[in-house]
Amino acid sequence: MSKSSERVSRRHDHARCIRRAVSAAEEVCTRRKVSLTPLRKRVLEIVWRAHEPIGAYQILAEIAKDREKAGPPTVYRALEFLQDAGLVHRLDALNAFVGCDHPAEGHAAQFLICSKCHRVAEIEDPALTRALGERARSSGFRFESGAVEIKGLCDDCAAGGDQ
Ligand SMILES: [Zn+2]
Ligand SMILES: [Zn+2]
Ligand SMILES: [Zn+2]
Repeated sequence: MSKSSERVSRRHDHARCIRRAVSAAEEVCTRRKVSLTPLRKRVLEIVWRAHEPIGAYQILAEIAKDREKAGPPTVYRALEFLQDAGLVHRLDALNAFVGCDHPAEGHAAQFLICSKCHRVAEIEDPALTRALGERARSSGFRFESGAVEIKGLCDDCAAGGDQ
């Protein structure tokens, strides 16, 4: 079975996306018997503020506006926690983070990145991941993280117009 992310149009109830991400995170934490601390939740919400990747510095800048400030090492630890739990992915090409809409520990993922508006869609296709793994092995290579980042244009940008 393969699953691809829902297509995300510019106009949608994004508050619902955030609520869904937070409740998925709560479930993951309950299963792992760890707690989604207020800071972890806050970092997750910041990462989910849009369907666009966000850099660590931007996350730190958002946290710095909070009444209860957290230092960078604490924020980095929260980010690491979210990545380990599969709630957030790191995009190496952009050096940025994006929320996962179907969190599961350690899943390999493929990303479609719009080069114009930077919107990101995740495709998680086990068949694709398997195929990549097999090709890698036959080339005498083992990959550590299976993230694939594909650049292109999203439908909105391809249709032209700035908004
Ligand atoms: Zn949304
Ligand atoms: Zn994912
Ligand atoms: Zn776009």
